[in-house]
Amino acid sequence: MIYADNAATTKMSEAAVNTMVAVLNENWGNPSGLYTLGQTAKEVLEKARQDVADAIGADPREIIFTSGGSEADNQAIISAARLGAANGKKHIVSTAFEHHAVLHTLKKLEKEGFEVTLLDVHEDGLVRVDELEKALRDDTALVTVMFANNEIGTIQPIKEIGAVCRAHKIPFHTDAVQAIAHVHINVAEDNIDMLSASAHKFHGPKGVGFLYVKKGIRILNLIEGGAQEKGRRAGTENVAGIAAMATALTESLKDLDKTNEIVKKRRDRLMEGIREIPHCALNGDAVKRLPGNVNFCFEGIEGESLLLLLDDKGIQASSGSACTSGSLDPSHVLLAIGRVHDVAHGSLRLTINEDTSDEDIEYIIKSVKEVVEYLRGFSPIWRDLVAGKKQFIL
Ligand SMILES: *Cc1c(COP(=O)(O)O)cnc(C)c1O
Repeated sequence: MIYADNAATTKMSEAAVNTMVAVLNENWGNPSGLYTLGQTAKEVLEKARQDVADAIGADPREIIFTSGGSEADNQAIISAARLGAANGKKHIVSTAFEHHAVLHTLKKLEKEGFEVTLLDVHEDGLVRVDELEKALRDDTALVTVMFANNEIGTIQPIKEIGAVCRAHKIPFHTDAVQAIAHVHINVAEDNIDMLSASAHKFHGPKGVGFLYVKKGIRILNLIEGGAQEKGRRAGTENVAGIAAMATALTESLKDLDKTNEIVKKRRDRLMEGIREIPHCALNGDAVKRLPGNVNFCFEGIEGESLLLLLDDKGIQASSGSACTSGSLDPSHVLLAIGRVHDVAHGSLRLTINEDTSDEDIEYIIKSVKEVVEYLRGFSPIWRDLVAGKKQFIL
């Protein structure tokens, strides 16, 4: 079996599993307890907070542990919106290809009277900083732009966007769920005010993540209850999950440059191999993308059938689109970069990592070629294209 859907989730690392099991067995006390068992759990929690902070160049007091990326996104955005509204600022700037944790939160705020400007994403899968600056207004309460896209892997000019926001004194949040532990991030150098992360995208457990909030930026508590996380997020902390997240993050960053060099070489070979298929196109910039992300559109086929046939060949991949979750709409990300409906339906996302071998890459290339040719063999759309009744787009 070849697992090529690391953007959806990753396998926990052995070290992260070991940390988790050890904490579950030995440090299972409630960190709010004043007795020894509670205090040792508290020590584990605070050590993890220090490690997570170190990983992004932050101070431990700037880290709030959450249940994952979605919660961190919700808290950052809703908080900035409410605090902005209290000062008469009810405008938010974001992009059309954000994760649904961001887009659906913005939709909810729109219903509550906020105005949202979603920036266009260009064909290369990148937002333009000058266009972002033009969208800013006196009543802009927040700018939120993802660090790297979860479908096409493109890495945004975060540092430049952050600098523009600073110059205009507007808080800047980034959903860095796909980027953290895969590229170097330093919140100070990258001009980031708030950042969301999730452990299961970097070999940690599911259901745990964090929100970085720069000192001086106010944050509202969205979950009422106890005084955990300095009153910024109630609920008994997932100590074992948090400790495992810190282990996974530290481990990922240890040899990141070396790992990325290997992964990028394999990714480039994968792109080169798939490109040989006629009438296909790479989605997103070939260079400014995550080391392990490959995303293609193929003309004349359905992404869903492609995935099922690849699964038969032992390859776990994704279309990177909503099709897989039972919706008939093509991916909002592919539409945002200008792919038309028909083409966007025939997409394939392969997200590899350091465990994907050179042999795996060659097997994936061979299999994708076979499956695309097979599906086109009985596709009515492909027949019309070949017969000249329809125009090729790709
Ligand atoms: C996975 C993902 C999320 C959601 O994170 P969860 O921990 O699963 O809630 C948010 N944003 C991006 C870009 C993601 O890839």
